[in-house]
Amino acid sequence: MAVQPAVFLGHGSPMNTLEHNRFTDAWRTFGLLTPRPRAVVAISAHWYVGASAVTSMDRPPVIHDFYGFPQALFDFDYPAPGSPEVAALVAEVAKPASVALDDRSWGIDHGTWSVLAHVFPEADVPVVQLAIDATKPLDEHVELGRRLAPLLADDIMIVASGNIVHNLRAIAWHADNEGYDWAQRFDAQARELLEDDPTALGRLQDDADYALCAPTPDHFVPLAYLAGLADARGQRPAVLVEGCTMGSLSMTAYVVEGEAE
Ligand code: ZN
Repeated sequence: MAVQPAVFLGHGSPMNTLEHNRFTDAWRTFGLLTPRPRAVVAISAHWYVGASAVTSMDRPPVIHDFYGFPQALFDFDYPAPGSPEVAALVAEVAKPASVALDDRSWGIDHGTWSVLAHVFPEADVPVVQLAIDATKPLDEHVELGRRLAPLLADDIMIVASGNIVHNLRAIAWHADNEGYDWAQRFDAQARELLEDDPTALGRLQDDADYALCAPTPDHFVPLAYLAGLADARGQRPAVLVEGCTMGSLSMTAYVVEGEAE
């Protein structure tokens, strides 16, 4: 049976939903080259809360969780169905961690739809979102990532969406395809560590550049899920596309390959 891949995508600005650049092209190519999964489990930096939950509604609302962007972005719709069945599977494989089934509070946020708009532009693959429990240390997210691995063999793709470097205070809006020295250095450190031992991801939190690169950990933590999945699959994550933009955003993306049937 085919095994679906898992990816970590650096989503960057919400405008990437509507734009075409080398990062969105890489997401699109990834979607075109992957056999269509039965569902996507998405882990977005933008559902970073004090609890563990998975969306379980048939029709998850599309959440426009930002401000100050053009109307076209607020009008953007990503009407992918949900899947109560896949939500229940997520809660099952996560045990003994307890993951609540959420049928009312969240939905699909822009961390998820800004990238899926390119990976699956037709919005025809069911999507459930798994919340990031902000009260847990990084190692527990790596461990939860590991536990999600059986879903890949069940024809479910896992998409983690964040940014390895994400410092909005330092952002240089017009510096396309450029990164500050510290951003590039940290991005390279992350790559070295993922290629050496993904389970040691926590070491990056001791890096001298960590405080600048992840002043709030919400965009960094989704990478822990990919690290755990890589470990469970006996792989090292492979770079899908690499680079920084706007000075303080890393758009680098990694994949844990699936297996063809
Ligand atoms: Zn974001």
